[in-house]
Amino acid sequence: MRPTTLDPLFAPVTTLSGVGPKLGKLLDKFLGDELRGARVIDLLFHLPSGAIDRRPSPSIAEAPIGDVATFAARIAEHRPPPPGKGKAPYRIVVEDESGDVTLVFFHADVRHLLQTLPIGAYRIISGKLELWEGMRQMVHPERLLEPKLAATMPSFEPVYGLTEGIGPRVMGRIVAAAAERCPDLAEWQDEAFLARSGFPPFREAMQALHQPADAKAVEGDTVMRRRVAYDELLASQIALALVRRQQKKAAGRATSGDGQIRRALESALPFTLTDGQRQAIADIHDDMEKPERMLRLLQGDVGSGKTVVALMAMAAAAEAGRQSVLMAPTEILARQHAERLAPLAAKAGLQLALLTGREKGPGRRQVLEGLADGRIDIAVGTHALFQEGVAFRDLALAIVDEQHRFGVHQRLLLGSKGEAVDILVMTATPIPRTLALTWFGDMDVSVLSEKPAGRKPIATKVISLDRYEEVVAGVGRAVAAGAQIYWVCPLVQESDTLDVAAAQERSEALQQLFGDKVGLLHGQMPGRDKDQAMADFVAGRSRILVATTVIEVGVDVPNASVMVIEHAERFGLAQLHQLRGRIGRGSAASTCLLLYKGPLGPVAEARLGIMRETEDGFRIAEEDLRLRGEGEVLGTRQSGSPDWRIARPETDGDLLAAARDDARLLIERDPQLDSPRGQAVRTLLYLFERDVAVRLLRAG
Ligand code: ADP
Ligand code: MG
Repeated sequence: MRPTTLDPLFAPVTTLSGVGPKLGKLLDKFLGDELRGARVIDLLFHLPSGAIDRRPSPSIAEAPIGDVATFAARIAEHRPPPPGKGKAPYRIVVEDESGDVTLVFFHADVRHLLQTLPIGAYRIISGKLELWEGMRQMVHPERLLEPKLAATMPSFEPVYGLTEGIGPRVMGRIVAAAAERCPDLAEWQDEAFLARSGFPPFREAMQALHQPADAKAVEGDTVMRRRVAYDELLASQIALALVRRQQKKAAGRATSGDGQIRRALESALPFTLTDGQRQAIADIHDDMEKPERMLRLLQGDVGSGKTVVALMAMAAAAEAGRQSVLMAPTEILARQHAERLAPLAAKAGLQLALLTGREKGPGRRQVLEGLADGRIDIAVGTHALFQEGVAFRDLALAIVDEQHRFGVHQRLLLGSKGEAVDILVMTATPIPRTLALTWFGDMDVSVLSEKPAGRKPIATKVISLDRYEEVVAGVGRAVAAGAQIYWVCPLVQESDTLDVAAAQERSEALQQLFGDKVGLLHGQMPGRDKDQAMADFVAGRSRILVATTVIEVGVDVPNASVMVIEHAERFGLAQLHQLRGRIGRGSAASTCLLLYKGPLGPVAEARLGIMRETEDGFRIAEEDLRLRGEGEVLGTRQSGSPDWRIARPETDGDLLAAARDDARLLIERDPQLDSPRGQAVRTLLYLFERDVAVRLLRAG
């Protein structure tokens, strides 16, 4: 059971004052996931991405122009728009001995302004100060305070990632309310280590992160963030250590089949397996036959054919009369896997079912029954497969596709679904082995290094967005020649509203030219519409699919041979590589157009250059590492790894090493976490949601 001291943090966000059902819904979409809404702790861990300096300038003359300025001034004059020009802005001139500033209000509520800013009154004013025709002006001041309230305005105001419908002030207010809720918790860190590192207590660190004392405080390498990052790393290393210990103790079960279903499958395939695929299948089967638990990573670049390896492994489990799950990171991908595997599975006499958060009602019940009584051999789904209430008759094998989106926590949950489940993790991210080991624990590795035969190279071109018209003309020619095209619009910062808007706008523009040949796919569409858009594209009813990065992972439409990526300079290299891997899967020659908005900095130019030069995922990852650091390679920065909320692989490597040693020592000395520190560590595991590991304690 979770310690009750943590209850306020795991309560829904609507338990915060000022967060009603409407705000709650927006936050659920922003910080929640398929299975649960946003909780107070999600806000607590929503750290500022910057801070606004609101320290007052001594006078108007000294206030910085072109930046946020804060100063005290007297209201000197109200200037309503001239008669007959009702739409012109309302202006108010404020002054001190050193100069004046014109405050500009569009669509002003004049009565309100007259009431709150009477002539002669003094105000603390803060906002972006500009020069306009030689005069200082400020459009819509962000703060207008009576001097006696000056102290309520922090010198450094945290800036948070936003979502549609929640502006900076509201976000600031509710995150502050969440930070207030952070309880005082018994210390789980080693006291000597804390003292040496100069780390403050958890609560103090959390609150300081949300109330930056200076501009540096949000830059990332502060002692406050490092404290919490270390907490997170320790929690995950302890969880890993517990899993390792349990894996050693609990012998696995040998799963071996007679090869009959696999042979049936192989002869049903429309192609012959590559040597690499055969080897990987053999590695996996050897592991499964052993009485130990398998923990294997299958690495293979996009398009290398990992899915069929997964299917063969699941067939081997079925031969032994046991069940398997295949988990995908997105709903779209889960559906695609299910649709593509079902006919093959059927030919081999296997029952396959789909389970995501969207399967509801009687259909869902049927699947759950089939899993519980063993009628279903293979379940394909999203992490809804972990949900309480999903039980298997005899689960032998769990396969996780596109692993960097999953983590140790999910792996633990999986392990809890069956005794001694073998685990296969598939990734297209070419994680250097050393990194994989430290961040994800010990795994055996199989690599698919060759691509299936018959692939043609992809011609990649880097083109300025200024040449949009030419690109569209080229797209038109490709469509006329029978090709299908992905048109990818970028994610704009942290807002998924803006990127959706960009994709919508682009699809409308292309519809003007190509009519109903244009489809649209983005993350905010209802699930059914997403399926429909995808199905239309797969069936060739739409020829151009305008999409946000929801197509990044795994989607497979062999006839798609052209990809246009707009604002390619905004993507990470790994992400560009993943995206581009969606084409070049059929027999036609493929083209990828990387559209950029200039001018490009030297790093951006080098990155796009690498994309033009090579299709080799490992080479791209290496260059990426060189240009950006480890974080990009793991995809943590761009995709927002669910496994790491605070810690950053690129800067916290030293902490990781310390946490690993600390965790091992702790588990050695106090294997049941019974000591006072052990008890506090249990709270830590719940706090960072590694608590499945706590169940292992009881089991042990
Ligand atoms: P990924 O490794 O990116 O998940 P997929 O498993 O989706 O790749 O495979 C990509 C495409 O290659 C699919 O259309 C699949 O049917 C095809 N494919 C897989 N193995 C082979 C093979 N040995 N020969 C030819 N095509 C193959
Ligand atoms: Mg795949």
